[in-house]
Amino acid sequence: MEVSKNINNVQQTVLKMKREGRMIGIVPTMGYLHEGHIRLIEKAKTDNDFVVLTIFVNPLQFGESEDLNAYPRDEKRDLDKAEELGVDLVFLPNEKTMYPGPLSLNISVVRRADVLCGKSRPGHFEGVAMVLTKLFNICQPDNAYFGKKDAQQVAVVDALIEDFNFPIRLNPVDTVREHDGLAKSSRNVNLTSGERMEAPSIHQALEFGKDLFCRGEKTAGKIVEQTRQFLEARTHGKIDYIELLSYPELEVIEEIDQQVILAAAVFYKKARLIDNIIINKDGCITM
Ligand code: AMP
Repeated sequence: MEVSKNINNVQQTVLKMKREGRMIGIVPTMGYLHEGHIRLIEKAKTDNDFVVLTIFVNPLQFGESEDLNAYPRDEKRDLDKAEELGVDLVFLPNEKTMYPGPLSLNISVVRRADVLCGKSRPGHFEGVAMVLTKLFNICQPDNAYFGKKDAQQVAVVDALIEDFNFPIRLNPVDTVREHDGLAKSSRNVNLTSGERMEAPSIHQALEFGKDLFCRGEKTAGKIVEQTRQFLEARTHGKIDYIELLSYPELEVIEEIDQQVILAAAVFYKKARLIDNIIINKDGCITM
């Protein structure tokens, strides 16, 4: 496994692979790898000849008051895991490498970002779009792997690939959960033990909302309100949002007659957790 912090080295390696006709898969992450990331890497290994794992805690996607400094990191453990999984190249740039000076350009995400996390984290998806544009250009992947846990990110990457004509196939991967339903997240280590006990209620609330739909409720507002009540009764965490929107367009709807996302974000003391369920009009699909 090659490990590189250097953009030129990575570009040389991937160029060589491309010349040899190898299919390249990229798994962009912020590290502190868990089962969710592992599922993405495994999928990338199955589909491609050469897998690039990127590990970079991207400051551009964190707001001023957010947990950039508290974000967990463990480079050694991540590299051991990557090696075990058969990753071919790990790109772990530092901040200076990715952003050597002030940027002359920025990317505005004008659709799909004014709701959910984009609304409560202004600038977040602009930061995501910038770092992914750079990573796509550096690593030249044929396939890119993203978790459905971050469903809004999947929707924004879908638009980024489409609008900028990246010759990349987007591969969304199902959310990996703990035994009690809590979506795996690097941030879960920042929960207190009491918060950890309550946190599965986020997923339970989304399942509850989905059941309302499956039992015939089609009014978005009613599902959101009852999901909120369910969750408020089960956690001390502060609900940032519960929203039900069309997916992947992420537009506000009143009556459900297409594929939708029911998503929630909850603030705990040192972690903000997100989760979602995609509900298909022909049935109910859990992501
Ligand atoms: P992160 O390191 O949190 O930026 O995540 C890197 C990638 O892993 C993103 O595409 C996430 O959506 C994905 N991911 C994170 N948690 C999970 C999970 N529990 N299940 C599936 N994918 C995940």
